[in-house]
Amino acid sequence: MAEPKATELMEKIVSLCKRRGFIFQSSEIYGGINGFWDYGPLGAELKRNVKELWWTSMTRLRDDVAGLEATIIMHPQIWKASGHVDTFSDPMSTCRHCKKLVRADQVWEQLPENAWAQAIAELCPGGHVDSARLLGWAKGKGQRVAPNLALVRNPETTLSWLAERVQQNPAPLETKELYQYLATEQFRQTGLVTPCPHCGGELTAPRPFNLMFKTHYGPVESDDNLCYLRPETAQAIFVQFKNVMETSRQRVPFGIAQMGKAFRNEVTPRNYTFRSREFEQMELEFFIKPDEAVEALSGTVAVPQAPGHPGEPQADWGWQLWHQYWVEERIKFYEGIGLPRTTLEEYWQKPEELAHYARACVDILFKFPFGTQELEGIAARGDFDLSQHARASGKPMGVFDETLRTAWTKLTKEKQDELWKRYYEARKKYLVKMGVEPEVATTEATADADGLAKGQYIAHVIEPSAGVDRLILGLITHAYSEVTDTDDKGKSETRVIMRFHPRVAPIKVAVLPLLKNKPELVKKAQEVFALLRTQMNTYYDEAGSIGRRYARQDEAGTPFCITIDFDSLGEKPELLNTVTLRHRDDGRQERLPIAELLSYLLPKIR
Ligand code: ATP
Repeated sequence: MAEPKATELMEKIVSLCKRRGFIFQSSEIYGGINGFWDYGPLGAELKRNVKELWWTSMTRLRDDVAGLEATIIMHPQIWKASGHVDTFSDPMSTCRHCKKLVRADQVWEQLPENAWAQAIAELCPGGHVDSARLLGWAKGKGQRVAPNLALVRNPETTLSWLAERVQQNPAPLETKELYQYLATEQFRQTGLVTPCPHCGGELTAPRPFNLMFKTHYGPVESDDNLCYLRPETAQAIFVQFKNVMETSRQRVPFGIAQMGKAFRNEVTPRNYTFRSREFEQMELEFFIKPDEAVEALSGTVAVPQAPGHPGEPQADWGWQLWHQYWVEERIKFYEGIGLPRTTLEEYWQKPEELAHYARACVDILFKFPFGTQELEGIAARGDFDLSQHARASGKPMGVFDETLRTAWTKLTKEKQDELWKRYYEARKKYLVKMGVEPEVATTEATADADGLAKGQYIAHVIEPSAGVDRLILGLITHAYSEVTDTDDKGKSETRVIMRFHPRVAPIKVAVLPLLKNKPELVKKAQEVFALLRTQMNTYYDEAGSIGRRYARQDEAGTPFCITIDFDSLGEKPELLNTVTLRHRDDGRQERLPIAELLSYLLPKIR
């Protein structure tokens, strides 16, 4: 059950975000639009910082990654080839009573958030059925909070099925089973029914609902010019693979990074910005050699030896080591922007959960107040994507590697045969899975394996795919803290400090003249402001008491405040041209020369 404390905390966070200008509801004056959010002045800065840090660490600080910025609308065939047209769907059910749409795989997650489900959990603690209390609730409060629940509409019949169950098996009921019994009126005909999380009514069987937003290009709306808003940024990277590789003079292994908007018509957007219909992604497709090519070149394929970061990439790394490397690199990134490892979890998808083309996938989860949920997925996708676009477009997507061609000629015949066969089998398996006739698949896989012997292959890919908005939400929820100050008169006040890492903080430093009616203080403060603002986002504030101004900055998450006082003007001659620098997290203050401010602050915010 969702902790009431977590709900309360989220309510406080949502309210702070609106009050301080981090996040607003999109189109608010028209009542909002579900699943769409705007970033206000502080949110826009926070988001910009996060994206900049990702881009810098992924591209500029690496020799082996190039950037891309592609269009949101692309050729519709891309989404056919990628599988999105046929399979990018979520199971959706409709409530037969209130008609709301519900994501069938999220019913049990959503239920405990609703008042009626919480009431039932309290009436039957530990799954022990108390029919009398259930009946009382059904005839009273239940009428209001769950009008369509079978227990409320027809309590006697519904409770009779439950009584039968308890008679046959006196063990307490699992929560899920309990809710199902209470939603079931005609047990003999329907079996146990799944309740609508909103009203308790009966849900229809799930059917697939495609999540892509459709639109048309050009003036005529017809099936011929149907196109989609991209549901992920990744596909543009695959279709521009050759162009980027050639123009950036990269060779496999290398990556292409892209960030930008993605759109998914989510059935039930929820948990604030966590599941939105318009959001941003930061994606890397890192292309590697197939293991057969690595083995031909290096004589062996290195595999993970121990958990943790495997160190600098090596030529003999197979896909598993590359995958482990990217999981660790991404965790390092999160740690570097203020999300400690203890706030994260790795979830290794089980074989049956993997997409059909994926060899492995690790979800990096973050402990949000509403539960531990996915922040980023890091998938080892084999050569599926490039192969699909090669087949659908008719354009070759393979790479040629002269060193592989030469290395192959130096292998023993036995080794050549072994690698040839492994590559052939892998290619054939992929082709057959994609519905290619077995004979055709045999011919094509033979050509692919012959190609490997000549130095050609389709690159495999490791994909770290992160959501900007989920990360922003993670940073906001992690930064949120409350402190209670008590003044001399014993009056206490609770206020918020947003403890953002200085690298992501929307405002890096605030410049505050001690008094606004002393022109010399204001002049000096303006000089300091002018000095800092070209290098970092700086805020100037002269309104209100200094304590109030500190509190305002704490709430905005500003890590440093600089106060210009009379000593700055030389009241104590030895302190001329020095300022007080206050640290947000512990209120510590230190005196620094103005001339040293930049060299002090810059390393802390970069
Ligand atoms: P989920 O299972 O939560 O729907 P997913 O596995 O479909 O996510 P991916 O397709 O792997 O997500 O997308 C990569 C990343 O994009 C996710 O880890 C997440 O951070 C972000 N993302 C995906 N869908 C949304 C959404 N509706 N709103 C906000 N961010 C999203």
